[in-house]
Amino acid sequence: MTTRIVIIGAGHVGATAAYALMLRALVREIVLIDSNHKLAEAEAADLADADALARPARIWAGDYADAASAGIAVLTAGAATHGNESRLSVAARSAAIIEQCVESLMTNGFDGILLIAANPVDLMAQVALRASGLPAGRVIGTGTLLDSARLRQTLAEKLGVAPSAVEGFVLGEHGDSEVTAFSTVRIGGLPLDRFAAAAPPLDRAAIAAEVRDAAYGIVSGKGYTSFGIATAIVRICEALVRDERAVLPVSIMPPDDTGFGGTYISLPCLIGAGGIERVVMPDLPTGEHDALQRSSAALKKAMEGMQQDQS
Ligand code: NAD
Repeated sequence: MTTRIVIIGAGHVGATAAYALMLRALVREIVLIDSNHKLAEAEAADLADADALARPARIWAGDYADAASAGIAVLTAGAATHGNESRLSVAARSAAIIEQCVESLMTNGFDGILLIAANPVDLMAQVALRASGLPAGRVIGTGTLLDSARLRQTLAEKLGVAPSAVEGFVLGEHGDSEVTAFSTVRIGGLPLDRFAAAAPPLDRAAIAAEVRDAAYGIVSGKGYTSFGIATAIVRICEALVRDERAVLPVSIMPPDDTGFGGTYISLPCLIGAGGIERVVMPDLPTGEHDALQRSSAALKKAMEGMQQDQS
């Protein structure tokens, strides 16, 4: 049973994730690690102020030695995007940070599950897999869980139902080539067309664009995004800590029999205490399947480009 989670990167995403983890009372110990140790100390002290009024957890600014007995390490240390910068444009900068953090974790005896949130998250998860030497099922990117939540929220508003009544996945890259798989949408068990049969048709392209570009709008207004991604981090941690066997769209190294092997992308995955148990590959219509292949190819090309930049 995991009782300790370490968060590496105590910036906007890391500190918000720590707060959300504390409110959810998922683990007893949360450790913040940041190259700016003063920042980690300040965030830990601020969070400790909330402790007595929330659920008891021990939160402190630590170092990599504290990670040895952690069940999960969440990596939010990375280069943040600004303005209209795409996630892929910060890849080389983030990769150097991820490599350094993962090497420090492994040399200090970490043997748990790596959960990567730093962007571009698909590439960073792949960098973390290589740097850690851990089995692929234990290196997970937050991927399109956040985008899928945005899709469910957007459809719920348009259809006048609760987001919890909407199931559906955004797949592929967490970024510009992502695929809004409308074929996977179910509301009360019904496909979208059947549920909304009496209503005017939804503009699917506009919904997909709204979901895909949501982060750009938030970043242009407040400079960063934090609440959505922090909640996605907590949701994945919850599935791991509680051995839920939940199916969530996260970024993984797909097995070859999915047809998408070789490059991290988001697919629906069964998640239990040991990490990814299996991919639950949806039956996609040709258009969505082809778009997913283009997304995978775009990530492969970006990975190769990033490796050239690094060498
Ligand atoms: P931030 O700049 O506020 O925080 C990053 C933190 O990492 C800083 O405190 C910095 O000191 C620390 N850091 C940098 N290098 C480090 C190292 N080598 N070791 C330890 N700590 C180090 O940025 P943020 O807004 O919190 O975003 C963090 C990352 O999360 C970015 O890559 C961002 O793009 C990504 N992000 C991902 C999603 C998603 O959906 N996956 C959503 C939002 C943000």
